[in-house]
Amino acid sequence: MGRRPVVGGNWKCNPDSVSKLDDLIKNINACDTSRLDEEKRNQHRLLAVRAERHKFMFVALFFCRCDVYVCPSTLHVPYVVPKIKNKALVTPQDCNPKGCGAFTGSMAVAQMKDLKMKQVMIGHSERRGEFGIFKMDDDATLAAKLKCVLDAGMSCVYCIGEPKEVREKGLSATLALMDVQLKQVYSMLDPAKVVLAYEPVWAIGTGLTATPEDAQATHKGIRDLIAKNASPAVAAAIRIQYGGSANAKNAPELSAQPDIDGFLVGGASLKPEFVDIVKAIS
Ligand code: PEP
Repeated sequence: MGRRPVVGGNWKCNPDSVSKLDDLIKNINACDTSRLDEEKRNQHRLLAVRAERHKFMFVALFFCRCDVYVCPSTLHVPYVVPKIKNKALVTPQDCNPKGCGAFTGSMAVAQMKDLKMKQVMIGHSERRGEFGIFKMDDDATLAAKLKCVLDAGMSCVYCIGEPKEVREKGLSATLALMDVQLKQVYSMLDPAKVVLAYEPVWAIGTGLTATPEDAQATHKGIRDLIAKNASPAVAAAIRIQYGGSANAKNAPELSAQPDIDGFLVGGASLKPEFVDIVKAIS
């Protein structure tokens, strides 16, 4: 199953100035997000088939490279949107589960849609917050947020991941927690609209990365859960990113794993190497 890779940069609550923000935007614009539209891609496939029949040497023109998105802080989102010159999607880091109204400090998907945004990220471990300073999002709230996003016709990056104490109990404990985190959204996992980001919490911002083998085993386990609880077709098509200290050095080996479809990148998305991570998987 050919799943198009996807790499996202999560800038979190950074940077601290607009001049630094301009540098980060340049970095995103330096990523190659070009891809053929479906019609042109089919024409090229047809050409490739014909060329093969006629025994010509032919290199298939398959320009489908990599989807890129970037998650600026809420305050910076409207500044960033008009400055993105490629196909990278500006993706806010959260939304509220209700919509517009008396919800001080929050953002509604209707507002994002009106500002021409197409995608939202939800469920980041720093928002789920069991181990951080905020305790905001439980699985039921996240399911309500996802429904809001999909009802608005937008797409979603949905983050899941286990803390260290669960990881230490082994793969089956990790997958049991992934099942809990996904239970209320299995029926909403439309592969055309939802990208899953598997981010082991112990690897986020710590410099610790899951080994390619460990990450692959967990991604495969998540896909098996989706096959059982949604459908095998959804499991085969949905894209699952890895997140947790991904960088230009470890990206090639991680992205060579069959069930890893790209990265959600925190720290390294604030550096020029983000472009190299996109290149590693394109
Ligand atoms: C993240 O914040 O989603 C993340 C993966 O951060 P880092 O790459 O810094 O671990």
